[in-house]
Amino acid sequence: MVSERNSSVSSKKVCVIGAGPAGLVAARELRKEGHSTVVLEQSHDVGGQWLYDPKVEEENPLGKDRFLKVHSSIYASLRLTSPREIMGFTDFPFVARKGRDMRRFPGHEELFLYLQDFCERFGLREMIRFNTRVEHVEMLDYPVLDDDLKWVVRSKAAEKAVEEVYDAVVVATGHYSQPRLPRIKGMDTWKRRQMHSHIYRVPDPFKNEVVVVVGNSLSGQDISIELVNVAKEIHLSAKSLTISEGLSKVISKYHNLHLHPQIESLHEDGRVLFVDGSWFVADTIIYCTGYSYSFPFLDTKGIVVVDDDRVGPLYEHTFPPSLAPSLSFIGIPRKIIGFPFFESQAKWIAQLLSGKRRLPSWEDMMQSIKEFYHSRDVAAIPKHNTHDVANFEYCDKYADYIDFPHLEEWRKELCLSALRNSEINLETYRDSYEEDEEMLRVAHNSPHFTQLDRP
Ligand SMILES: Cc1cc2nc3c(=O)[nH]c(=O)nc-3n(C[C@H](O)[C@H](O)[C@H](O)COP(=O)(O)OP(=O)(O)OC[C@H]3O[C@@H](n4cnc5c(N)ncnc54)[C@H](O)[C@@H]3O)c2cc1C
Repeated sequence: MVSERNSSVSSKKVCVIGAGPAGLVAARELRKEGHSTVVLEQSHDVGGQWLYDPKVEEENPLGKDRFLKVHSSIYASLRLTSPREIMGFTDFPFVARKGRDMRRFPGHEELFLYLQDFCERFGLREMIRFNTRVEHVEMLDYPVLDDDLKWVVRSKAAEKAVEEVYDAVVVATGHYSQPRLPRIKGMDTWKRRQMHSHIYRVPDPFKNEVVVVVGNSLSGQDISIELVNVAKEIHLSAKSLTISEGLSKVISKYHNLHLHPQIESLHEDGRVLFVDGSWFVADTIIYCTGYSYSFPFLDTKGIVVVDDDRVGPLYEHTFPPSLAPSLSFIGIPRKIIGFPFFESQAKWIAQLLSGKRRLPSWEDMMQSIKEFYHSRDVAAIPKHNTHDVANFEYCDKYADYIDFPHLEEWRKELCLSALRNSEINLETYRDSYEEDEEMLRVAHNSPHFTQLDRP
């Protein structure tokens, strides 16, 4: 374990909520910067989404309880969609280890082990209070919002409630748990099984069933392919019938997998009616329709709100101008290379809290947010996709705020290559990637990987 602490700067008492990848890297950077940091984690271990949880029986199948009982939405067979090389934190590459899952797109457990290794290496465990769920966070002296803003954090561990005051709170609770559901006529009265992919784990319960899978992005595709060998029929309902070459190939390969347009309505006798007038009787509907941002514990008196999956106002997806840097969010952006981005967010938060850096004025941050929203409107991007970044330049611009290294070209290339390959070879892209050979050589000879050879 390495020791890294900077005690020469202004130190704050900081609470990080969540010990997933974002919370772990936040904890490390905050401590490095000299802050007294505690991580509150509701689960019994680190890893967040990557802490696989097979016990989903007590969860509402559509995620309708205020607090979810299950955090991870990972299913048993899940393999990474991003290649391992691009995922590592800057000084801790995600390398293949003998005796473990050495594949480039390994199963979920391998990423969990990587996060365990990360904790060991930097001694993060001692900062984490496990089995501790944060139930309420609010400002101490509201309505006074000054530089001395403090937060009351109420948490519960083994039925014991604890209330503490912190100088700063970093929210790192993830956003792939709370089901986002479509509105379909008859959904509330359809009597058969309806569930969200959040609680899908294995295909066995769907043996010989007629299953409707709603949504054809990552989980919808993965789950449909897994069900073809078990279910009687799988009917994949997509927003658009213009689908990728990869998915087309899969649909023509399996006689029991069919593509449909959107569902028009559900009927009490079990019928599922599609907008093109076709219908059939189904046993189960699995909604693979994505996830919503949700912070049921956070009371900011309406200063930060979630409006149709836009969390705002947030400057650079991280800082609410009226409450920053005392309150910050890490891990909100989607469609980015996650781990290095979380790392850059963590460094920025840590350095703002120590006074090493300053945010722009409130007016300038609000203006920047306004311009950002306007640019999304002009580009006709729906509000619920506000945090879909899908832009390497943005990550580099973000990095410049704190002199964080830009994404290496090989990271970008390998990321795009995996996306292209999955579009064409959906079933095989994780195991067949000849065109990556040269770029992989570049990656493995880059400082990110060769740093491990240094004493
Ligand atoms: C099916 C699926 C496949 C994915 N595949 C990939 C992939 O291939 N590559 C990739 O980069 N990403 C993938 N992701 C995204 C994944 O979520 C991120 O990799 C990463 O886990 C995000 O880290 P995080 O720390 O922000 O959130 P999380 O990993 O969700 O961690 C949040 C933590 O906060 C804790 N928490 C939440 N609420 C509270 C509370 N009130 N009190 C205390 N603790 C709390 C949770 O228990 C959890 O430990 C996938 C996600 C899913 C669902």
